[in-house]
Amino acid sequence: MIQQPAKNAERLADIQQFVRDIAIPAEAEVVRTNEIPPSIVEIMRQRGYFGWSIPIEYGGQGLTTEELAMANIELSKAATAFRARAGTNTGIGAESLIQDGTEDQKRCWLPRLASGAVTGCLALTEPEAGSDATALRTSARLTETGDGSRWLISGTKRYITNAPIADLFTVFARTDPLDLSHRGISAFLVERQTPGLSTGPEHRKMGQAGSPVSEVYLEQVSVRPEDIVGLETGKGFLTAMKTLNKQRINLAALCIGPAMRLLEEALAHVKTRKQFGQRIADFQLVQAMLAESQVEIAAATALVMETARARDRGEDVALQASMCKYFASEMCGRVADRVVQIFGGGGYCADIGGPIEMLYRDVRLFRLYEGTSQIHLLNIAKRILK
Ligand SMILES: Cc1cc2nc3c(=O)[nH]c(=O)nc-3n(C[C@H](O)[C@H](O)[C@H](O)COP(=O)(O)OP(=O)(O)OC[C@H]3O[C@@H](n4cnc5c(N)ncnc54)[C@H](O)[C@@H]3O)c2cc1C
Repeated sequence: MIQQPAKNAERLADIQQFVRDIAIPAEAEVVRTNEIPPSIVEIMRQRGYFGWSIPIEYGGQGLTTEELAMANIELSKAATAFRARAGTNTGIGAESLIQDGTEDQKRCWLPRLASGAVTGCLALTEPEAGSDATALRTSARLTETGDGSRWLISGTKRYITNAPIADLFTVFARTDPLDLSHRGISAFLVERQTPGLSTGPEHRKMGQAGSPVSEVYLEQVSVRPEDIVGLETGKGFLTAMKTLNKQRINLAALCIGPAMRLLEEALAHVKTRKQFGQRIADFQLVQAMLAESQVEIAAATALVMETARARDRGEDVALQASMCKYFASEMCGRVADRVVQIFGGGGYCADIGGPIEMLYRDVRLFRLYEGTSQIHLLNIAKRILK
């Protein structure tokens, strides 16, 4: 039985309890096994975490952008893999459908994504198309078969979060071989069992143990015209951009939770660790690192919350979303680095300093995916120079 939509305060209290009593105690096991225990995934399903961003009429919790940011901040105080497990369903794996899917497509997939019965993923990046996603080479050709028209998709996707465990892939492919711009790209809904679709071994990552990421191979994968998102070709790149625009606010929120956790861990540590006969909290150079972290977390939180509220008011937040993603991800990296410094050798050695070493490695990804920091700086500059 999936929990019904709750009031915001109740939801946040529920997530805080999950993080404190269930997720954080399981972090070491997740690192050791490289998997979120299935029993914990089931708890997340029952509490409705897979459907946060999915509208209520399709079985989700229907959170506003602001509520979703608050929920993401709380959940990401635990190791990032917990958020990532549900995060493609309540994020990039469902958002293309929410934005541009037809009513039939939404009714077919969103309830199952919201309940966590199926896991979704978004397959845009390719070996030769990273920051420049418009350069993607995966192709889709329309052919006539005895069963009617079919699109045959061929290509390779890389670094796809949750691909090893996904049931539904939103695949971006070029449907117009003569149009090499974004207008030649379409988005397809492809089920895992479709012949010709397979996933590679998990990438061996720096961090985020328990969050599987891999390549996706498509060899003449036959898809019905009804499985184009919104049934329209040539709109796929715009769908991806709409999806990522919202996701950038989510991702910025996901950078704030770990930064808060790291600062909390540091505050506890400096009050007990003694050197030169004093608590290290009494050294002003240590205090500066704590204070800088506090200021930066507050600034990122204010920016993300204001942007989320503006999006909920229906405003165009493309500039602000890039600012959020850039600032919050860089902020989190700086906080993680300072906290390693504050823990000294314990920040580097997991058996001494606890989760600090893991969190430092986990958060490095934030500055890379869903637009690197450089791409967001360019986007911000382009928009303010306009
Ligand atoms: C763990 C993980 C999970 C991911 N999950 C997904 C997923 O679920 N779905 C998906 O589709 N993708 C996913 N990605 C892909 C991710 O979005 C890309 O890695 C990212 O967009 C960067 O592309 P790239 O790695 O090819 O780097 P590149 O594009 O090769 O960039 C390399 C460097 O060049 C810089 N650069 C590139 N272009 C410019 C420019 N014009 N000006 C200045 N600097 C530039 C970049 O900032 C970077 O520093 C994931 C990646 C990782 C590592």
